[in-house]
Amino acid sequence: MNKRLVILGAGESGIGAALLGVKHGLHVFVSDMGTIRNNFRKELEENNIEYEEGKHSEDIILNAETVVKSPGIPDSAPLIKKLKEKGIPVISEIEFAGRYAGGKKICVTGSNGKTTTTTLIKHILDEAGINAAMAGNVGVGFARQVASGIDPDWWVIELSSFQLDGMYDFKADIAVLLNITPDHLDRYNYDMQEYIASKFRITQNMSSEDKFVYCMDDKNITDYLNEHNITAYKIPFTLMGEVKEGAFLRNDEIVINYKNESMSFFAHELSLIGRHNIYNSMAAGIVSHVLKIRKKIIRDSLANFKGVEHRLENVASVRGIKFINDSKATNVNSVWYALECMESPVIWIAGGTDKGNDYSELEDIVRKKVKVLICLGKDNSKLVDHFKNIVPDIIETKSMKDAVRSAYLVGKKGDVVLLSPACASFDLFNNYEHRGQIFKEYVRRL
Ligand code: ADP
Repeated sequence: MNKRLVILGAGESGIGAALLGVKHGLHVFVSDMGTIRNNFRKELEENNIEYEEGKHSEDIILNAETVVKSPGIPDSAPLIKKLKEKGIPVISEIEFAGRYAGGKKICVTGSNGKTTTTTLIKHILDEAGINAAMAGNVGVGFARQVASGIDPDWWVIELSSFQLDGMYDFKADIAVLLNITPDHLDRYNYDMQEYIASKFRITQNMSSEDKFVYCMDDKNITDYLNEHNITAYKIPFTLMGEVKEGAFLRNDEIVINYKNESMSFFAHELSLIGRHNIYNSMAAGIVSHVLKIRKKIIRDSLANFKGVEHRLENVASVRGIKFINDSKATNVNSVWYALECMESPVIWIAGGTDKGNDYSELEDIVRKKVKVLICLGKDNSKLVDHFKNIVPDIIETKSMKDAVRSAYLVGKKGDVVLLSPACASFDLFNNYEHRGQIFKEYVRRL
């Protein structure tokens, strides 16, 4: 039997990889332990791709030449261990698609802000008339787009640490590392250093011609850089002090210096609010400046960017109460940034599936900004216990309908209702998008 390309996990990335494999004449086999979604199953059948669901047939899988693994499958899964013991390469969809993709690559990673920054960079490139495509965790998968034959000059790719873990020969031309704060540690043996090393894989294979754009205010990043030699040309951004090359803030002005070319724009003109978005805008600004996009286009694009759904998204004002959807804030760090940029008293809707959160980091900011905490989850005890002596008023709810109504009832003109849960959504919703949609629906019904 000839050797196959085996794809584990029949989601967007797996199906894309299968289509790309078939296009290049590989013998493809797709295996999914769960149930394959109807639309994906249909695609497999229409393309005569062999597949199985509800099981993993080891006799076939352990005979693969290469395995493309979905980011959802941990390296600790017994099957992955067996593959590695046998020396069969297990790679990510990005690595696989990278073998066939033309064009240069801008890659964005970090614990928070990836989608926002990736989308923002793509927006600026579009405004500049550059032929660019966006891939990775956002929208249509990388492999699927490569299989469809599109061939942009630049790819803007969002990379999670799970995708980076399965990348070996792939090389970014420009890599952006936004921040590294604890997340997904369950997949890294609860070892922060392992997680940090995973994020830094974004710089692998880069030459001194390639650019590495990173946040200089993040100690995890700077400590790693002090101890490791990164070949790529380094361009930092910071909100603390000034740098000769890179981006920094002087009063309200963001300055970007790169190879004796300087540009600047005003922080208050950025369409995205909040300190975290100054970082994201700096990163996108550096990338655009390096690409020599006209300064006016960069400035205008940063000012007219519409933002991304579920990230500090303005939903509506009802009776003078503003409702903001930040459903994507599934960890403590992103909630901190959301609260930090709120300028009115906050009615904070939080809760869901706790991923081992340490809420103590939020105490000060919550004390300053939050007047009512509305807990929304099947089990709210951890949130209530933590904040009962910090927030004057805590309301427990178990449905979005009740959460939105309670917020509306306690809200006064000038207040902000902020859905920024700090938790995953799986106790009550399918995913964070679903949670955000339902929130918006109930707000619109008020
Ligand atoms: P990711 O794709 O990395 O999950 P998103 O752009 O989807 O990031 O944003 C996720 C959440 O993190 C949002 O709630 C957003 O407000 C917050 N956030 C965005 N950028 C940053 C940043 N640079 N640092 C911290 N939090 C951020």
